[in-house]
Amino acid sequence: MPLSDTHLVIAVTGWAAARDAGLLVAGVFWLATAFWVFKDARRRIETPWLVGLATVLGLAVPFLGPIVYLFFRPPEYLEDVRERELEIRAIEERLRLRSLECPVCRAVVESTFVVCPICTTRLKQACSGCGAPLEAIWQACPYCATPVPSGPMFGDSIEPLRPRRTVASDQ
Ligand SMILES: [Zn+2]
Ligand SMILES: [Zn+2]
Repeated sequence: MPLSDTHLVIAVTGWAAARDAGLLVAGVFWLATAFWVFKDARRRIETPWLVGLATVLGLAVPFLGPIVYLFFRPPEYLEDVRERELEIRAIEERLRLRSLECPVCRAVVESTFVVCPICTTRLKQACSGCGAPLEAIWQACPYCATPVPSGPMFGDSIEPLRPRRTVASDQ
């Protein structure tokens, strides 16, 4: 075999190897971009068939498909959208709780009310010393230092509040 022929064979083999390597790299890159489209679409799109459509686009149109997908994909991740919805709901809940209501008649009451003015349901215990409304966990009145008697505070909460006849008033 003449020397020039050997050189030609080596050159052709080398070119074929380089072409194969290039095709392999392109193939791997193509599959990687298609897989990226699938992963990204799953995080942004809720509808399964749309995720499938985006994946098919990324797979069927090598390299150009993923770029087209980039133009049309939703701007936010689904988890960010859900997080924001939860935050809004929490804020609404906080606003709702700010306006207290009577547990029986749902009338709007203030936190300082001892009884509901509409249905006379007892909302809080009043201090025996100064009559100030007491919170459930208080052990003593913060206004006059009278100790709060222990026991069920809301035991009579559903009963209408009427002046109780005591032994002293009977006599
Ligand atoms: Zn009420
Ligand atoms: Zn008091």
